[in-house]
Amino acid sequence: MPQTAAAGEIHALVNGLNFAEKVERSLRLIREAHEQYGDRLVVANSLGKDSCVAWDLAKRVSPAIRGFIITTRYKPAETVAFMNEVVERYPELKVYRNDATVPDKLYQTDPDRCCDILKVKPIRQAIEEMNVGCWVTGLRCTEGRTRTDFQEIEERDAGLIKLNPILIWHEREIWEYLAVYQVPVNPLYAKGYRSLGCAPCTRITSAPDERAGRWIGTSKCGGSAASTRGR
Ligand code: SF4
Repeated sequence: MPQTAAAGEIHALVNGLNFAEKVERSLRLIREAHEQYGDRLVVANSLGKDSCVAWDLAKRVSPAIRGFIITTRYKPAETVAFMNEVVERYPELKVYRNDATVPDKLYQTDPDRCCDILKVKPIRQAIEEMNVGCWVTGLRCTEGRTRTDFQEIEERDAGLIKLNPILIWHEREIWEYLAVYQVPVNPLYAKGYRSLGCAPCTRITSAPDERAGRWIGTSKCGGSAASTRGR
């Protein structure tokens, strides 16, 4: 596996590396993992701004790298339209969705269960069907999740490596990358959203926490502990 920072070094790197150094580090992490896992390295693309960066970096490493998108019946129309554009450009992105019947407004009564059914289950299906050995995420340690112990490389499920190549990036560096490399993003960002998810669980807020607009008024907050849980 690629050489990564020890647990205590991650937070030093967040402010210790500049933008260009972070881009190089992320490319190296993906390149080294790709050398090891080849076609079994797959990007989990949530279509959010961070995933757009992780996906673009992966395509710079190898245009052949595959990915998957998890969508749900509750995604905003703008996100669905953006997803269709991205998939048309990158047909190696496979879309997974669980159409199972769920109780009405489960996202209000039990959002954890709703996410488990509509997001975690299809993630597991994608990982199995695509024979994933290493999945690449757009997770960042500065985005206000409840967990703070993320590592660039994790093995929370036996035999399945999770690579978080942009873990140490700031939000402003994400926007810097998207602007410099002219990577298209979901038009909902122009309306004021900072973190995107399903429509019933996502609000525009002016709170300082980047994920403050997610799951407002429910038992669930912006972080997530399940190892195969998405965004
Ligand atoms: S984000 Fe909300 S609507 Fe989407 S799966 Fe989770 S609880 Fe359900």
